[in-house]
Amino acid sequence: MDIVTGFMIWAAEASTIGVLLWTRWFYERQPFYFTWGTGFIFHGLGIGMVALRGTLPDFVSIEIANVMALGGIGLWVAGMMQFDNRRVEPLVAIPSLIFVAGMLLEPVRTNFSYRVALFHGAASVGYLMLIATVLWGENGRSQTRRVFATCVGIQVLSSIIVAVFALISQPQSFASGNNSFLLLLVAALCFIAAIMSGSKLISERKEAKLKLLAVTDPLTELLNRRGLIEEFHKLKRSHADDSGFLALIHLDLDGFKQINDIYGHQAGDEVLVAFGKIGTAAQRGRGSFGRMGGEEFASIMYVANMIEAASVAEAIRTTLKRQPITVGEHQIPVTVSIGIALAEIGSANLDTLLSAADRALYVAKTNGRDRTAIGTENDVSIVPAIDHADTPDTPVQANMTQQVAALRRIVAIGK
Ligand code: GH3
Ligand code: MG
Ligand code: MG
Repeated sequence: MDIVTGFMIWAAEASTIGVLLWTRWFYERQPFYFTWGTGFIFHGLGIGMVALRGTLPDFVSIEIANVMALGGIGLWVAGMMQFDNRRVEPLVAIPSLIFVAGMLLEPVRTNFSYRVALFHGAASVGYLMLIATVLWGENGRSQTRRVFATCVGIQVLSSIIVAVFALISQPQSFASGNNSFLLLLVAALCFIAAIMSGSKLISERKEAKLKLLAVTDPLTELLNRRGLIEEFHKLKRSHADDSGFLALIHLDLDGFKQINDIYGHQAGDEVLVAFGKIGTAAQRGRGSFGRMGGEEFASIMYVANMIEAASVAEAIRTTLKRQPITVGEHQIPVTVSIGIALAEIGSANLDTLLSAADRALYVAKTNGRDRTAIGTENDVSIVPAIDHADTPDTPVQANMTQQVAALRRIVAIGK
C-alpha cells in the first residue's frame, strides 16, 4: 500500500470519528464532543487534502491542508481542556502557528522534506500539549489518563522519527520518501489506542457523575443517606490508626410541618437549603454533613472527644436560633433538636451509633426541643446550654467556660 492511499484511508476514518462525535454532541450538548468532532474533521480533511496533492492547487494541498490537520490537533487539546472544565487557552493554536511561521521561510516553503519535518515537529508540539493537559489537569492521573498519555507519547516519538528521517534522507515527494511501513503501523495503532482510552475517559466521567448523583440529595446538594453511610466507612478507614472518636450527630428541625403550613412548602424547601449551609460550615474539616431525608440531617465527624462533637452541635443549634432564615420577605425563626452518639474508631458501628443518636434526639425533643442531647452507653444527657435556663439538673450557665465544665461532667458520667 502506498502512503497516499494510507493518507486517504486515515482521512476517511478521522472524518467518520468526527461525525460520530458531532452526533454525540447533538444528543448530549457537551461542548467537548463538538470540539473533538471538529478536531477530527479538520484533521481528516487536512490529511485528505495533503493526499490529493497534484489534483488540488498547491496552496490548498500544502498551506491550507497542513494548517487544518495541525489545527485539528489543537482542537483535541482544546476539547480536553473543556472535558476537564477548564477555560480553553489560545495556546491551542500553537501547532498551526508553528507551521505558518515555518512556511514564511523560503527554504522551508520550497523544500518538500523540510515541510514534512516542519509538519511533524508542529504535530509533536501539539501532542505534547495534549499529554500535558491530560496529566497536569486538576482531575488527577487515573490509570486511563496515563494510558492515553502513553499512546499519545508514542505518537510524539513516531512524529519526531519521521521528521528526523525527512531531514536526513531529503525525499522530494511522498512517492520517493523512505517511509517505514512499521513506523506508520505503530503510529496508526497508537492512534486507535488513544481514541479507545479517550472514550474510556468519557465513560469513566459519566460513571463518576452517576455515582455522585446516587449519593447527593437533589434539593440541598448535600450527601444523602447513602452518601453519609459511605462517608462513615471512609472516615473509619482513614482514621483507623488514630485514637479519636467517630461522632454521629442527628439533627431534626423543630415544628417543621408548621413552617410548611404557615409559609408554604417552597419556603420550607428554602429553609432546608439554608440549614444545610449552616450545618456544613459548622463541621467543616471534621467530616461530612448530609440530609437523611425530610427535615432530618446528620453529620459524621472524626473528633478528639465528646466536647468537640457537642461544641459543633451547639454551634449549629445556636447559630440557627440566632439568625432567622430569610425567605422572600419572611424572616422564619427555626430551631433544631440534636442527638449525638460517639464511638471509638476501632469499634464504631453505624447501626449502634444511629440508634444511640436517635434515642438522644428523642430525649432532646421530649425535653422541650431546641436542645442537644448526648447518648452514652446506658444513658442520655442534655447538653447544658447557655441559652436555656431550664436545662435539667444544671444551673443557668453564665459563660462558655462554665458550659465546657458542664460538658466535662457529662463526659465523666458517660464513662
Ligand atoms: P418535630 O418538632 O416533632 O420534629 O415536628 P416536625 O413538624 O418537624 O416533624 P414531623 O415529622 O411531624 O413533620 C416533618 C415535616 O417535614 C412533614 C413534611 O411535610 C415535611 N417535609 C419532609 N420533607 C420535606 C421537603 O423536602 N420539603 C418540605 N418543604 N417539607 C418537607
Ligand atoms: Mg422528623
Ligand atoms: Mg422535625
